[in-house]
Amino acid sequence: KPQRVALVGLGNMGRPMAVNLAKAGHDVMGFDLSDAARRQAADAGIAVAASLREAGQGAETLITMLPAGSHVLSVWQDAFTHLSPGALMVDCSTIDVASARAAHELAAMHGNPSLDAPVSGGTKGAAAATLTFMVGGRVEAFERARPVLDALGARAVHCGEAGAGQVAKMCNNMILGVSMIAVAEAFVLAEQHGLSAQALFDVAATSSGQCWSLTSYCPVPGPVPASPANHAYRPGFATALMLKDLRLAKEAARTAGAATPLGAHAEAIYAAFDAEGGGGDDFSAVIRHLRRQMT
Ligand code: NAD
Repeated sequence: KPQRVALVGLGNMGRPMAVNLAKAGHDVMGFDLSDAARRQAADAGIAVAASLREAGQGAETLITMLPAGSHVLSVWQDAFTHLSPGALMVDCSTIDVASARAAHELAAMHGNPSLDAPVSGGTKGAAAATLTFMVGGRVEAFERARPVLDALGARAVHCGEAGAGQVAKMCNNMILGVSMIAVAEAFVLAEQHGLSAQALFDVAATSSGQCWSLTSYCPVPGPVPASPANHAYRPGFATALMLKDLRLAKEAARTAGAATPLGAHAEAIYAAFDAEGGGGDDFSAVIRHLRRQMT
């Protein structure tokens, strides 16, 4: 059954998500603090409110798609009084685990069911409604969110209690960030010894070095024609976003006392590449940084 949904944060991800929710028949009202984002969303055909209050009025579901934990906590705090009683709160942003848990506590205090539901699939997945949701929170809240998540993505995995979605997301992206550097290092080493990229690919893609960073997202042009390396490293998944996720992983490791030495080293390497101006390039362009390190 169609729902009245308020979607707050109409940026690169939130805008196409709002479009898809409306397409699926939901009654969507969007809001963003930025005039430019509100204008762009209206141009895309989304009903846009002038305030959080107007967007939230009577909504049965609130979706937030915001940059960081502080934004999510402040929007949720302000939204409770406007939403319909018992409205479902769903945060799809990628944020720190502590803020995600604090948001769940805030919702519970107001009697609202809540989910942390970060996504993978990027802006392409948001536009094509093929996102994957990694979801933390009560199973009843997860079931209630189904119609909305189904309109936005291809898959939703219930990972566990409050914060579990964020933990799953940062663990996955830590694997990705580390494995991309490992693959890029191997191509640089091969290059320096005169081994062709194609030969290394042909061996490793069917050997124990096989991984997604190699076979789906190869950081050198040629072997995987669709990978960003073939398109001037246009993202894709920008280095700045990978860096954000690795910082969240490091913070989560620190608070839990987990040892993640390669995650921390990967963060330092992407940070160095970002400082060289690579933040807007796809993260697989980190191979350029490695080439610059050659002695
Ligand atoms: P974005 O910067 O394009 O959009 C965020 C929007 O939030 C901006 O338009 C900003 O004006 C708005 N905003 C900030 N504070 C607000 C407030 N208090 N009230 C209302 N609006 C407010 O970012 P994005 O690329 O859409 O990413 C959103 C989230 O999704 C982030 O947490 C990001 O890490 C995550 N994510 C992004 C991608 C991607 O490929 N872009 C992929 C996966 C996850």
